[in-house]
Amino acid sequence: MEEGTGDLIIKYSMKWLKMSKLKEYDYVIIGAGITGSTTAYFLSKYSNSILIIDKNEKVAFGASGAAGAFLSPLLGKPNKLKDLISQSLKFSTTFYKKINSQSFKNDGICRIPKNDGDKEKFDSYKPYMDFEYFELNDGYFFNVGSWINPLEVCELLTKDIQKKMKYDVVSIVQNNESWILNSEIKTKNLILCTGANTKLIKEEYLDIRAVWGQKIDLSTTTNVNMNYHKECSISKAIKSDERNLYKVSVGATHHRFNNDKNLDLDDEYSKFYTKDIMNNDTSKLINLANDILKLDDVKVNDIKIGARASSSDYFPMIGRLIDSKKSFEKFPHLLNGTHIKENMLISIDNLYVLNGVGGRGFVLSPYLANELVENIINNKKIDEDISTYRLFKRWAKKQKNN
Ligand SMILES: Cc1cc2nc3c(=O)[nH]c(=O)nc-3n(C[C@H](O)[C@H](O)[C@H](O)COP(=O)(O)OP(=O)(O)OC[C@H]3O[C@@H](n4cnc5c(N)ncnc54)[C@H](O)[C@@H]3O)c2cc1C
Repeated sequence: MEEGTGDLIIKYSMKWLKMSKLKEYDYVIIGAGITGSTTAYFLSKYSNSILIIDKNEKVAFGASGAAGAFLSPLLGKPNKLKDLISQSLKFSTTFYKKINSQSFKNDGICRIPKNDGDKEKFDSYKPYMDFEYFELNDGYFFNVGSWINPLEVCELLTKDIQKKMKYDVVSIVQNNESWILNSEIKTKNLILCTGANTKLIKEEYLDIRAVWGQKIDLSTTTNVNMNYHKECSISKAIKSDERNLYKVSVGATHHRFNNDKNLDLDDEYSKFYTKDIMNNDTSKLINLANDILKLDDVKVNDIKIGARASSSDYFPMIGRLIDSKKSFEKFPHLLNGTHIKENMLISIDNLYVLNGVGGRGFVLSPYLANELVENIINNKKIDEDISTYRLFKRWAKKQKNN
């Protein structure tokens, strides 16, 4: 049956009514892990119209809830990734102190080489250490090493931010200058901090792979007197309420599974991360911990599993998303590898990401979130190494052969 003028008026009036009822914000952040929480924190200095959304019931429930979360330096000869991590570690250490995180414990960390070959490597890194250290038993003790509780930190960062939890964003649609989420929420600016779950982003160059991992919380009669890292990390013991018992965390394992891209990570991960893998990881972590320090009377109290969001070059990515289709239409020579400056490319209006923080989210996020917010608000240039542009550029070059 054809629609008459009356039907059309009703249809569009209903649509208008629905649109006019949309809740509106200046900024919506999807993802309340450490990337989303730090972004909300820095943004709140400039705006009081911010909503943070997560499909989980609490903040820090994704990868952020599974993390150790240790803040430890990257050792090695000079390179750009090490520079970024050292700069971020200085920034985040100051940051967690400044926000008065009660869980932040700056007790140092002892890094122990895995074997003789590793020891030789460590020795060759000595001229390039970015942080003070001294040799201790078989290892190297860095004062800068610390540990935080992810839940406490993310709650603290978002305490004054409006939240919408247990809310799964399944669609984001651009509408003039705004974004509409699930036909219910309208925002001028949308920031995606969704970690390994990149289903909302249709751009192929944003190649994020999930690196799954496990951490276990133990009780033991051994008083672990400092943070250690060898093939796994052990946290300094916290005295338990029970006599002669201490609590420690041990992490973490690494797994990549084929075909897990674009899965709903929260609902479907158990297909990949089976009970067998979980049990093997638990035994493995206890063995690796015992290789550092013999832990007596171990009881596993909790197991956490999460998916780190890892980029192909291990660098994170922040900033606007480039619209690959429109950029190719405007500059067909991109296919021949022609270099086009970033500011000439067409980006998707008012859509930003902070992703790819891999296994160092708690070290990198405060620094990156601050850079992203300064870019959004004050147009501060983003370094190419941490931009989405570098990924687009590499991906665009490969398209000719595809
Ligand atoms: C076992 C393990 C140990 C680790 N140890 C350390 C460590 O010692 N030190 C360190 O610095 N880092 C560590 N990491 C890495 C660190 O946890 C991550 O880098 C960091 O948590 C990533 O934060 P994120 O905000 O990007 O992702 P997440 O914490 O995963 O947050 C993303 C959030 O987005 C939400 N979301 C996604 N899509 C949607 C949607 N469509 N609608 C609504 N919500 C959505 C998810 O529910 C999730 O809560 C570890 C990771 C693991 C797994």
